[in-house]
Amino acid sequence: MKHLSAGQTAELRSELEHALSKLQKSLVVSDQAVRPVELDQTAVGRLSRMDSLQSQSMAKGLRERETVRLALVRDALKRIDDGTYGLCAACGGEIAFERLMVFPESPTCAGCSG
Ligand SMILES: [Zn+2]
Repeated sequence: MKHLSAGQTAELRSELEHALSKLQKSLVVSDQAVRPVELDQTAVGRLSRMDSLQSQSMAKGLRERETVRLALVRDALKRIDDGTYGLCAACGGEIAFERLMVFPESPTCAGCSG
């Protein structure tokens, strides 16, 4: 990561650590949201049960995206320690600092992310 200065790397590392703690917190919350919907006929009417099934599936989709991002963030932090951070996993080229500021967890350059 020669194209990144120590200051830039430190900035990106703090971005990643911030994202990591945010994602971990959010995943704990969504853990509760994806629990099986209670099928209590008396307490919950048919409509509100469908509502909760719908919001459950939305929570699942969000959770999947967050899980993917969490893995990328963890991987990026590991690559900072390895000294390979900022290099495209596909073409080996340098990932622009500007792109990393927007997607600090990105493993590929703008050209390869398609
Ligand atoms: Zn690339």
